[in-house]
Amino acid sequence: MNEAIREILLTEEEIKNKVRELSNQIIKDFPDGDVILIGILKGSVIFVADLMRSMNINVTMDFMAVSSYGMSSNTSGIVRILKDLDFDIEDKDVVIVEDIIDTGTTLKYLYEYLKARNPRNLKICCLLDKADRRKADIKADYIGFSIPDEFVVGYGLDYAEKFRNLPYIGILKEEVYKKD
Ligand code: 5GP
Ligand code: MG
Ligand code: MG
Repeated sequence: MNEAIREILLTEEEIKNKVRELSNQIIKDFPDGDVILIGILKGSVIFVADLMRSMNINVTMDFMAVSSYGMSSNTSGIVRILKDLDFDIEDKDVVIVEDIIDTGTTLKYLYEYLKARNPRNLKICCLLDKADRRKADIKADYIGFSIPDEFVVGYGLDYAEKFRNLPYIGILKEEVYKKD
């Protein structure tokens, strides 16, 4: 285990099984395919890659980059679009793929922003959900795991751009972010 990690919350195996479950749920809702997965950079990159490989329908991907947290572990509540979609989503079946919903500020903003482009369907797939922390009125259609209010890293999630490469999701030791 990485020395900055206090505890493994979700193992590689647990994540793998959950990704398969989530992809099955999405396929069930869109059996004819032509689904666009929109990954939110950078935290959802690994999740989107695994999710799409377990979907045996026609699926494309696009990415958006937003900024709300900067380098710190606390939310500012401000959402800024750093990279918009490459493709038009009007009349398309679209699934936003996020790593984690915390206060919900980011997803609420993105949902409204994309909804305004008139997709046929707009769903949200989120791997992790910190329901206790929710402020914005937003709910994912496909949720991987509900987790406690702890700062987690791994499987795409970072602290100051590190730890995205961990194959599991772990709770960061407090001393790691306290000394910054
Ligand atoms: P929200 O707008 O829902 O408060 O924040 C969502 C974003 O904050 C996530 O996409 C993620 O980038 C970041 N975030 C929230 N909680 C955590 C956490 O426990 N670990 C990491 N690495 N990022 C988090
Ligand atoms: Mg994110
Ligand atoms: Mg981050």
